[in-house]
Amino acid sequence: MTELSAISVTALKGVGEAVAEKLAKVGLENLQDVLFHLPLRYQDRTRVTPIGALRPGQDAVVEGMVAAADVIMGRRRSLLVRLQDGSGTLSLRFFHFSQAQKDTFKRGTHLRCYGEVRPGASGLEIYHPEYRALNDDAPAPVEKTLTPIYPTTEGLTQLRLRQLTEQTLARLGPDSLPDWLPSEMAQQYKLGPLAEALRYLHRPPPDANLEQLAEGHHWAQRRLIFEELLTHQLSLQRLRETMRAQQAPPLPPAKRLPKQFLANLGFKPTGAQQRVGAEIAYDLAQDEPMLRLVQGDVGAGKTVVAAMAALQAIEAGYQVALMAPTEILAEQHFLNFSRWLEPLGIETVWLAGKLKGKARMASLERIAAGAPMVVGTHALFQNEVHFSRLALVVIDEQHRFGVQQRLALRQKGVEGRLSPHQLIMTATPIPRTLAMSAYADLDTSILDELPPGRTPVNTVTVPDSRREEVVERVRAACYEGRQAYWVCTLIEESEELTCQAAETTFEELSLALGELKVGLIHGRMKPAEKAEVMAEFKAGNLQLLVATTVIEVGVDVPNASLMIIENPERLGLAQLHQLRGRVGRGSAVSHCVLLFHPPLSHIGRERLAIMRETNDGFVIAEKDLELRGPGEMLGTRQTGLLQFKVADLMRDADLLPAVREAAQRLLAKWPAHVSPLLERWLRHGQQYGQV
Ligand code: ADP
Ligand code: MG
Repeated sequence: MTELSAISVTALKGVGEAVAEKLAKVGLENLQDVLFHLPLRYQDRTRVTPIGALRPGQDAVVEGMVAAADVIMGRRRSLLVRLQDGSGTLSLRFFHFSQAQKDTFKRGTHLRCYGEVRPGASGLEIYHPEYRALNDDAPAPVEKTLTPIYPTTEGLTQLRLRQLTEQTLARLGPDSLPDWLPSEMAQQYKLGPLAEALRYLHRPPPDANLEQLAEGHHWAQRRLIFEELLTHQLSLQRLRETMRAQQAPPLPPAKRLPKQFLANLGFKPTGAQQRVGAEIAYDLAQDEPMLRLVQGDVGAGKTVVAAMAALQAIEAGYQVALMAPTEILAEQHFLNFSRWLEPLGIETVWLAGKLKGKARMASLERIAAGAPMVVGTHALFQNEVHFSRLALVVIDEQHRFGVQQRLALRQKGVEGRLSPHQLIMTATPIPRTLAMSAYADLDTSILDELPPGRTPVNTVTVPDSRREEVVERVRAACYEGRQAYWVCTLIEESEELTCQAAETTFEELSLALGELKVGLIHGRMKPAEKAEVMAEFKAGNLQLLVATTVIEVGVDVPNASLMIIENPERLGLAQLHQLRGRVGRGSAVSHCVLLFHPPLSHIGRERLAIMRETNDGFVIAEKDLELRGPGEMLGTRQTGLLQFKVADLMRDADLLPAVREAAQRLLAKWPAHVSPLLERWLRHGQQYGQV
């Protein structure tokens, strides 16, 4: 029998080119993909509920006789169908309906319908139920299994997905879908058979425990979760092996440049900076590429650590590339490195996507000619960028770069032969329990000490009904010679609207605080404009800066000691923590006002309370994880780094030790099983395990 992974979806009845295209949109190209496209949840249509037993909020199958069907003219015209079954009366309400539809609801017609029961003007109602007329002679059977609800895309109905899974399940057998988990492993970890697990999840029996399924604790789910986590682990370990198998230029410990740099710096590195610096220096001296992640809370001083590493490479005669995810952050690094390296006689080159024309040509030429320090955005990855002696890549804020992009770096090394060392810096602290799984491809160092003299930011929550008081607070702070940020948060994922809101807020505040100099910065401004505003704020010529979350990372103005964040409930805790890290950089006591819009949900209140209670990024990360789940915390929407289909790192954390062990055994004893697993689970995500 042909393996399902080798059969295109077009082999199914009802799948032509148009449907195949839609299926491709949700990642379904072959029949194996269809089987691993699992339901999000289930509906129970296996029994008919008597009308008299219905409860509001319940999804139910109901059968009854049409007693009346009338067009009601109220506030919104609607068709109201009264349905009776002897135990009570229920109304079906349609706001959109045709005459033909109305005519099907003749008095005495026997109907079966399905929908959510809600309290309405006429007692219990179902809005726009699914329904069909029943033939009294041959009653249609109810569903034999729970009804799966699949993730889908526009134009792809649940009915269609059910038909396709039905056809595919019919072809599922031991030969058509190999089980890559060796049976001794399945036994050891008490995992059931793959085919049975899939059958169960696509069509659970009526007595299935819906609660258990919703919580992800069912054995059938655990079987797939284990396999998915295992695959993830394998891919990272492969990535690591692939990287490690490369040669890197060994960079001997530097003698001269770091010393000069530290002498000019004006402060002493913290103990943590020295320790992590030494770990990096050791890695760089090896002839295999360093793969090191430095985790450090906001303001822990990661940039200094990066500069020390850069100087080791530069002193050895090589090039360094530093990449940041946003232009504004990259610019900040460019300014810092220019300022630090110029006294040492070292040139820093700038490259970003928006750099055009002659300036771009000039940068590209200097990079090709071997300019020692290059700073920019992901534009540094582009094909036209040729380094002559690249030995170290520093990536700031790793969670926004895909693993793909990191793989692409290999080609940029010395003469395309030697791979550069990689130093990755993130201020998104990951709970230690998860770090090993999330970053199995990297060694990690932790900067767990803030530079001395920092005073923790004092955070308060204030409802936006007291906005005027907050404005007065800004005025008072600025009168004392301090500076302040006023941050406008994302509106429904639309950058456009967010920027507009920032503009409106800017005008309002300029008016209210007429005597202060107020600036505005947002994502739609030109880089040169943004740079100018930032420079003005940094120089103290602007007292209040109205901003969108573009200032989230890296911006460093020690005199700014007050930050107002509007609608903080819209942001993740990690992001709030990042934002708040823009203040508290000087010696003055800093304040952060979370200006929320009531009413807050229970979780919303808890989340803001955490911000009030702690300034420790690790604690915040742990809580954020508890309240939101790991996907969101790590910003996976941008990278797909931890995009799981069935697994959830937090919920399934108990499986991780076994998964790690299983990954090692599989690599050692059954290496041929690795690629098919990666193909099964990751083909449409990160192909990082495949070389
Ligand atoms: P982050 O880890 O958030 O990237 P930065 O590298 O931007 O932090 O450092 C934050 C601020 O702290 C910068 O102004 C930097 O110059 C300063 N800084 C870094 N290390 C020290 C230190 N050891 N002592 C005093 N200030 C330091
Ligand atoms: Mg930083």
